[in-house]
Amino acid sequence: MTPALFDWQNDTWDYLQSLRDRLPHAFLLHGPKGIGKTQFAEYMAKSLLCENPDSQGHACGACGSCGWFSQYSHPDYRRVRPELLDEEEQTAGDGEAEPAPKSAKASKAPSKEIVINQIRALSDFMNISTHRQGRRVIVLYPAEALNTPAANALLKSLEEPAANTVFILVSDSIDKLLPTILSRCHKLAMGMPAYPQALAWLEAQGIRDADVWLAHQGGAPLAALDIAQSELRAELDEFLKQLSKPAPETGLKLAEKMQKSDLPITVSWLQRWLYDIFSYKQTGRIRYYPRYEREIRNLATRAQTPALMGLMKSLNEKQAIASHPFSAKLFLEDMLLEYGAVFEQ
Ligand SMILES: [Zn+2]
Repeated sequence: MTPALFDWQNDTWDYLQSLRDRLPHAFLLHGPKGIGKTQFAEYMAKSLLCENPDSQGHACGACGSCGWFSQYSHPDYRRVRPELLDEEEQTAGDGEAEPAPKSAKASKAPSKEIVINQIRALSDFMNISTHRQGRRVIVLYPAEALNTPAANALLKSLEEPAANTVFILVSDSIDKLLPTILSRCHKLAMGMPAYPQALAWLEAQGIRDADVWLAHQGGAPLAALDIAQSELRAELDEFLKQLSKPAPETGLKLAEKMQKSDLPITVSWLQRWLYDIFSYKQTGRIRYYPRYEREIRNLATRAQTPALMGLMKSLNEKQAIASHPFSAKLFLEDMLLEYGAVFEQ
């Protein structure tokens, strides 16, 4: 994650500057996934630590503190996130110098949660004096990954804040956070950027079919960039191609082929695909996969509305268990056969 301030965040930034003289000790940045909240949090952290910020509060980029920050070695800065994210970042090889904390047993799968030891380590960090007698900043994300013991431990720090310490929590779904945590943070709501702004940014990143990927991610530009650049892109294209010609044999073959895929993502692709078929049938509009208009139109004429609605309901139930199915292959077979049965041949 690189600190960054995106065009669509300027208002939030200005608002933040208005708080600078009486800085809250804990912030909660919240809003939809994939719009750059974490980058904003890091940008904010860098500026709060900078020794010489400009009149708009932007970090100078030249002082000792900014230097440390870009080396990921600032002594007064901590980043707290699930171990799994460290692992993923290392695999992605984006060149960050910060080593991932190794789990005790090498064979243990990295945790998707923020665990209590990570929060305990923060109390040590908060008990030593800051390197330059300045501020201490902690960025924690995603806050909904805090498990219960960790959330309770964090609550103590939020209730009795250490001097000169600023917490910046980031969350995609604040409804999953403890109300006691919410009430102790200054909340900054960050909304979805305006479509033209998001599209212009995505195009400037050199993404072909930027509109397709942006639509696919519901308008969230960073999420769109992620998928457009990932291997998932090919997998998605192949999946949609197969969905275009539903038949029992294609369903079974596809289930075999996709059994190693990330099931919650696969289910969400199918959910969006169905949404498009349904929406096309009702209003003639396609939201997620405009590139497949011909196929979607064809499928819309071959399915009855009640059957589509039944399938959409069933997919919601499947999504709830998609991260831990009994067997990935059976799960997919079941889902794809049910899908195929909705369309008249
Ligand atoms: Zn600086």
